[in-house]
Order: sequence, then structure tokens, then C-alpha cells
Amino acid sequence: MIIKNGKLITWEDENQILDNAEIMIQDGVIEEIGSGLEKKFPDEEVYNAKGQYVMPGNICAHTHFYGAYARGMGIPGPAPKDFPEILEKLWWPLDMALDEEGVRYSALVFAVDAIKNGTTTLFDHHASPNFIDGSLDVIGDVLLEAGLRGVLCYEVTDRNGPEGAKAGIEENVRMIKKAAGIDRLGAAFGLHASLTLDDGTLEACREAIDDQTGFHIHVGEHQADEYDSLNRGGQRVVDRLKQFGILGPKTIVAHGVHIDLKEAALLAESGTWLTHQARSNMNNAVGVAAIEDFLRLGIKVGIGTDGFYHAMWEEWKTAYFLHKVHHLDPRRMSALDIVQMGVYNNAALANLYLPETKLGRIEVGAAADLIFVDYHPYTPLQAGNLPWQIIFGFQESMITSTMVEGKFLMKDKELLTLDEEKIAAEAQALAPEIWERYEGFVGLYS
Ligand SMILES: [Zn+2]
Repeated sequence: MIIKNGKLITWEDENQILDNAEIMIQDGVIEEIGSGLEKKFPDEEVYNAKGQYVMPGNICAHTHFYGAYARGMGIPGPAPKDFPEILEKLWWPLDMALDEEGVRYSALVFAVDAIKNGTTTLFDHHASPNFIDGSLDVIGDVLLEAGLRGVLCYEVTDRNGPEGAKAGIEENVRMIKKAAGIDRLGAAFGLHASLTLDDGTLEACREAIDDQTGFHIHVGEHQADEYDSLNRGGQRVVDRLKQFGILGPKTIVAHGVHIDLKEAALLAESGTWLTHQARSNMNNAVGVAAIEDFLRLGIKVGIGTDGFYHAMWEEWKTAYFLHKVHHLDPRRMSALDIVQMGVYNNAALANLYLPETKLGRIEVGAAADLIFVDYHPYTPLQAGNLPWQIIFGFQESMITSTMVEGKFLMKDKELLTLDEEKIAAEAQALAPEIWERYEGFVGLYS
């Protein structure tokens, strides 16, 4: 296929904006970039981008599809007063309520959401304690059907007893092997958080896989994680994870809001990745992670949504504003840092887990994972001011088409792989029973 009349945003290391360049795609890969391609390949199908910006699809470094049914759901009793209560009254009883259909529809509605928002690769962190075995296959199948790319894992925890922990370990090990042979899927080894993991379980997780696999775990999202770790053995969370061999150049820790300087240094030294989710941190009122300090220390920081809808530019904007108001200094959190995290670091992370294709840039040999943005700048748009044009001008509603591996998942606002109306209706029909089971589980923890 040839894409013509596009303005290409390449997101190469030296970002370029190429007006009116054509792209030739073959077998899901960008084969050639230039002009006169229509004449050179007269038999190729041509798609006219009609002057839209064409750029690599966005990548989400940390999300939870299982949270989909929280939307519009009431939490019984008084509102949770802090993050531990949010876990006990919202997320834990909700993930308990998911059966196979619940997991499938949670993933389906968020796959629709990701395609419409131009997010083409997603790192999911899954939990469904009453349907563990096979849960990652259900999510993987949905992503494959949707045409997206995903890196899956199951949150191992001791919250559901030793059997639950064992089943979680097995689910990770199974999917890590399986995903290695499947195009567009990858897998990490998921851990919930230090505060729900005993020493024995951490040891068992470390032993269950080789050093080439990375872990994906929440770290220091709230002080409770640090207090718990200090109570267990006098160590802070990251020190504890280091002791159990969990850190490393493929491991992803989400949040890091409450880690101290030594813990940050340990993340930097070990090459561990950290993901920032500003919308989630604000919503849970857990605090503000020292993201700029982390970047200065050399920690590879990416950006995720933590189960919010998968609008990455919205996540960028929230981070951009949050750090300014937090420091009472409009110079903090430059849009250049946002792009470093949201574009370059997220792409490097995705390329680590999905090494068969080059993701996150438009260049010859890269995957044709593209989005088309109907944006009409009224001031000059150049490589140098693009980060600010995105923060202040781009909106996900301007995305008209989303493509993965050279295949349109949404073309001119029409979804081609998933039927949104049908999925939403079926998901909604399932909601009353999921919410009813949820209400039955709320009392379990609180
Ligand atoms: Zn999370």
C-alpha cells in the first residue's frame, strides 16, 4: 500500500516533519519513503491522507484492562479515604468479580478505546483472581482480533492465598513461552506490589523464569507499600525487590511516587524502567513522583494510563501540567521531557518486549503502525515546536485512522476490526451481574 499526501512526523532521534512524502508499505513494514512512489509501484493500492499528519501510533507503557467495568460503578458506603481503601473497596472486589466473559469484555471495550485514541501497543497488567488460568489468552486473543500489539502479564499476589499465587505464577510462565511465538504479542512476569507479596512468593517468582524475562510491578504508589516493606524486614521496597532479583533492564516498575533517593539510584543502576501515570496519581491522591529527578538520574521513564482511557496525549498533558503546579514553577516538566518519555522511552520499552519489529518511528524497515491526525496548525508547526503543538493543539478526537502492521484498524473514523456498537451493547448487558458480584466482594477486604 502507498500512503500519499501525508505530512510525516517521523519521531526519529532527530525528529523530522516531511511535508508531502509518500510511504510504501509491504508486509506490514515501511519499505520506502519518498516521492513518485505511485508511479514506481503502479499496481499498489493507494490511500490518500489528504494533508493529515501521519505519525507512529502511540504506546502505553502501563495499563489495566480489567478496570474497564469501574466506569460508572458506585462504591458502596463512605467514599474511600486513601489509596489502600481504594484498593480494598474498588479494585480488589472488582477484579474478583471478573469471570471469563468479564475479562473478555473488559479487554474488548478497551481495545476499541485504544484504536480510537490511536494507541497501537499496550502493556497490560492483569488480575482476575476467580479466573486466572487462561485469562491472559483471553486478553491476547482480543488484542490479536483487534489488530493491536500487547505485552501481557498476570499480577501475582498473596492476596488470594497460596493457590492464587501459584496459579498466577503459572499463568505468567505459560504466557511468556506462548507469546514468544506470536507476532504482535509479548509478555512480562507480573507482580501486584511488594505489599501483597510474601518473601516466599517473590522467591518462587524469581525462580520461575530466567534472567532474560522482565517483571512488571507497582512500586511505592502509596506510602503503605513502603511501610509494609519496612515492617517485613527493615528494607524499603526497591531494596527488597533488589534482594529478590526483581530489578533489571527489562523490569518495569509503575509509579515510584514514594521511593527515596537510594531507591531511585537502585533503579538507575540496574537499568530498571519506571512508568508515570499522572491522571491515576491525581485521581488516587497519592502524590507526585519525582519524575524530572528520575530522568536526571538516568532512569528510563515511560508513560502509561493505569487503566484510564488510552488517550496518550491526554496523559502527556496531565503530566505536563501536574509537575508545574506541584512545583509552583511553569518551567518545570518541559514538553521535551514529555516527548522523551512518551515517545522515545515508550518505544524503546516496546522494542525490548516486541523485538521482531521496530516500533515507534517512521523510517525504512520500521513497522507500519501509524495514526492519521486531522490537525490544521494556524502557526508554523516544525520539529522544534511539535511537542508544544501536541500539548496545546492535538486531541485524540482528531485521529481519523489507526493502522497496525500496515492494516487499518480504523479508517476514516470507521472501525474495521471490532464492532463498537455490538461490543458496547454486549458489555453493558454483562455489567449488572459483574457489579452485583463486585458488591458481594466489597466486604471481603474492608
Ligand atoms: Zn497500575
